[in-house]
Amino acid sequence: MVFEGTKLHLRAVRDIKPEEELTISYIETLSLTEDRQRQLEDQYHFICHCQHCDSQDKDGLMLSGGESTWRLLKEALPRLEALKAESNWQTLLQSCSHLLSTVDVYRQYYPDPHPVHGVQLMRVGKLQHYLEHIEDALDTFKQAYQIIKLTHGDDHPMTTDLLMKMEECRTEMDQQSSG
Ligand SMILES: [Zn+2]
Repeated sequence: MVFEGTKLHLRAVRDIKPEEELTISYIETLSLTEDRQRQLEDQYHFICHCQHCDSQDKDGLMLSGGESTWRLLKEALPRLEALKAESNWQTLLQSCSHLLSTVDVYRQYYPDPHPVHGVQLMRVGKLQHYLEHIEDALDTFKQAYQIIKLTHGDDHPMTTDLLMKMEECRTEMDQQSSG
């Protein structure tokens, strides 16, 4: 589900059977049951008894998935420039890369392609790019692009942004190898 101005796009990332029930989540599902239920109650005024909430089945997975690291990355990105001098970006990047490469928790939780995974990859790519790990950044952007072009579509600003980022990386790599 993607908002574009006042338009709402619903994109399916797999085939839908006739009469299959389609459901959406009101909130980002990538948090613990307790947090999801609180948010749903605050924002939508109901106590959620969906399958995930009642069984709390994904919570263990979530705790091992380093949710706080993702949140840290999300909050850090807009402030990269401002905090250039003082911050420990390398450590953050290491934690994120570690999460992406070894703990395949998102794929267990969200079968690919899932927009959240795409967005996370994009954020990690931006951090890698910022830290001038250009080859890694390009690789991460490519993975993000594969997901985002399906979940958000070719015309979405995020998709075109990713294409631009990939182009920037290629140009910078060319400059490095010729300089
Ligand atoms: Zn629920």
